[in-house]
Amino acid sequence: MKPTRTGERDSSKAAPNAAQRAAVDLGLVVAAHGRRGLLAQPDGTRLPYAVRGRHLKVYCGDRVFFAAAGAGAGEPVIVESIAPRANELQRLSGRGGLPETIAANVTHLIVVMAALPAPDLYLTDRYLCAARLMGATSAIAWNKADLACVPTTELAGYAALGSPVFPVSAITGAGIVALRAWIGAGTAILVGQSGVGKSSLLNALVPGADAITAQISLSSDEGRHTTTTSVLHALEGGGGLLDTPGVRDFVPAIPERTAISSGFVEIAEFGCQCRFTDCRHLRESFCAVQEAVNDGLIEARRYESYRRLMNLVRQSDGRTD
Ligand code: GDP
Ligand code: ZN
Repeated sequence: MKPTRTGERDSSKAAPNAAQRAAVDLGLVVAAHGRRGLLAQPDGTRLPYAVRGRHLKVYCGDRVFFAAAGAGAGEPVIVESIAPRANELQRLSGRGGLPETIAANVTHLIVVMAALPAPDLYLTDRYLCAARLMGATSAIAWNKADLACVPTTELAGYAALGSPVFPVSAITGAGIVALRAWIGAGTAILVGQSGVGKSSLLNALVPGADAITAQISLSSDEGRHTTTTSVLHALEGGGGLLDTPGVRDFVPAIPERTAISSGFVEIAEFGCQCRFTDCRHLRESFCAVQEAVNDGLIEARRYESYRRLMNLVRQSDGRTD
């Protein structure tokens, strides 16, 4: 348990002392809205929480230690500290802005694509790269399969790179069971362009999800409209699905340029054989990656995504090399 902070005073109520707060439990944050939200106890019971102090930043998916002592009926329990995170899902806030955390402990990233809006494979590669860098497993959900079949020639390569492709339809329900089985007991998030069907799929996987999110957002808003309530919906039988309604079509932040090659599984693999250990696989000689592209062992389109992403992150780094 974190030591008691003596510098903080809540003028409206006497803060519970250290002895009262000795009983500390572990909870899973299932809705986060600024400094308040909802947590789920191991038995599934949900409790409103408030965060102690100003420095603790709590996100959906966080496992938190909280103290119930001192909280009256209907009063929020107090989040004292956060269990170490496996990862954080971040997006760039605005143009060139700092990365902003959306959720913690995300295990599965599902890139939703469809025939309409037209697929953007560079964007897909960007998502898959971000997933790898944060240590999450990724898959592609080809939605609106009732309208158009999976374009196998374009997407065949992804399964070989470790991201299975699930044909699904949020409208007919086709493929939903298989997608749900893939998530297992993990914490998943649906990402992708606006209009591909993320919210429809969310509702197909978690019946009533939109209504639940709206209800939680309403009860936690208290007249403010600036912060987004993110919600972790429980999936029947275990696992969960994250939803951040205000930023459903976000693009995850890529932390640094040097890491990008690790986000492309096949480039990382061939990259071990380059002559220079700091090879960026762009114009260097004796580069096993460029050779593999020339030999058709790495898909030229994927390599192009890598180059574009390297350029993008270089620009936002402000570097000129
Ligand atoms: P989002 O912006 O990614 O959240 O996409 P929405 O869930 O709002 O869906 C965008 C549009 O696609 C809506 O008009 C949906 O009705 C439609 N849509 C979503 N899923 C499917 C599907 O599986 N089949 C068909 N035919 N239309 C779908
Ligand atoms: Zn190289």
